[in-house]
Amino acid sequence: MSANDHSVGFVTHDACLRHLTGPGHPERPERLVAIVERLQDSGLWDSLTHTPARQASLADIALVHSQRYIQTACHEITQGRPALSTGDTAVCPDSLAAALWAVGGVMTACDAVTAGEVRRAFCAVRPPGHHATPDAGMGFCVFNNVAIAARHVQQARGAAKVLIVDWDVHHGNGTQDVFYDDASVLYFSVHRWPFYPGSGAEAETGTGDGEGLTVNAPLSVGAGDSHFRRALESVLLPAARAFGPEFVLISAGFDAHVDDPLGGMNVTPRGFGELTQMVCEIADNCCDGRVVSVLEGGYGLAGLAESVETHIRSLMA
Ligand SMILES: [Zn+2]
Repeated sequence: MSANDHSVGFVTHDACLRHLTGPGHPERPERLVAIVERLQDSGLWDSLTHTPARQASLADIALVHSQRYIQTACHEITQGRPALSTGDTAVCPDSLAAALWAVGGVMTACDAVTAGEVRRAFCAVRPPGHHATPDAGMGFCVFNNVAIAARHVQQARGAAKVLIVDWDVHHGNGTQDVFYDDASVLYFSVHRWPFYPGSGAEAETGTGDGEGLTVNAPLSVGAGDSHFRRALESVLLPAARAFGPEFVLISAGFDAHVDDPLGGMNVTPRGFGELTQMVCEIADNCCDGRVVSVLEGGYGLAGLAESVETHIRSLMA
């Protein structure tokens, strides 16, 4: 094993700090600040490969989103509306640039991993993405960072089959919508249910060519490490083995953390580390370990930062 086998890229951009959501909003710039400070204080910062982000183009966004929604989002944000008309996503005039840098950052991370510059990568970007459907931003999300990245690795990087693992406490309805009838993407979500945004029942399994490739593992309020671990072991593992992904993306929300103000679940930082390890093992067996992990939710600053640290340590292992 060469030294490079442990290398983990880290992608963020200052533009993501300028997406302001208003006083008291849980999805705030301080989330990224807390993550960076924790990584610096723990000494992990210097062990990461800092991969410069790029800004996505509107053509990149169109890999997933409709022209009509792209125009709506661009217009409403630049006109200074306080929120998108399509759903509960607070915005400010700088939010468009932030959203484009967030998407571009994840695409850059995917490029670095597929080019072998790093083995895996973590993207500390915002706004988050997994609630954004092809036609609507909602749930604090503008563009679906992970879904666009999946299309990017398929089209530009030749990975035909992509696995998306989503352990954010909320169901990733947007990502599910994008790939619901698609045979080339396995979407797995473990989440609290019933809960926002309402989707994510076990019976939602995909349609047409995508039948069986949407896999939902709903959990009751209060679920903790063992419940999440079991969902990955008994539901994700067999599905992933049968699918054989060539690239793995994680929608890494940390709002199932025990102290999260929104989530109502009991996952510990150590638990997030174990989930990470399980996903890395899938990637090691299927696709030379290639994993790009992307921040979604997580609203208690200390719990978020500690969880991201254990997550990155597991990505490095
Ligand atoms: Zn969430």
